[in-house]
Amino acid sequence: MATARGIIPNPYYRCAGPNCGVLKGASDRWWIMWTSFGEYGVPVMYLAPWDEELAVHEGALHVCGENCAQKLQSHFMGNVRDNQDRKGG
Ligand SMILES: [Zn+2]
Repeated sequence: MATARGIIPNPYYRCAGPNCGVLKGASDRWWIMWTSFGEYGVPVMYLAPWDEELAVHEGALHVCGENCAQKLQSHFMGNVRDNQDRKGG
């Protein structure tokens, strides 16, 4: 097989939103979210309009719309707070 670096393009994207999981249609205008420690040394959440190259990125979350984006943002903020609390703040 000639697939580069084992990345298998997956045309079926499922929304990462809690209790959502809808499949992306060809014409749906989705969003991509991902988190990174980036250049600031703190957790940063990114939100970008759909892009096929970003979609296959490791850690990319596929999001069907504003509702699910807000839920994921809420999760992210909760996790950050939990981690800060655990560090003994
Ligand atoms: Zn969704």
